[in-house]
Amino acid sequence: MDGVFIRVDLAETARGDRGLARKLEEACPVDIYAADEGGVRIVDENLDECVLCELCLEAAPSGAVRVVKLYDDGAALERPT
Ligand code: SF4
Repeated sequence: MDGVFIRVDLAETARGDRGLARKLEEACPVDIYAADEGGVRIVDENLDECVLCELCLEAAPSGAVRVVKLYDDGAALERPT
């Protein structure tokens, strides 16, 4: 995972949500989210393509998704509560 500069955290309640999985899959321009049988899957090999556009945050309810900037002391992008 060398060179990966972000991490995506999903709330426990969001992981198994197949409706949310489809929304995230559609929202992210670089395919970091995939909708599969179990709900939301993070596509690790695409993480370093993140453009910090926040579209995933807008597609998800507050608290469901955090994009953590590993290069910035773990500062996170998240939807305000
Ligand atoms: S911030 Fe944009 S590019 Fe990054 S994971 Fe969210 S939707 Fe994808």
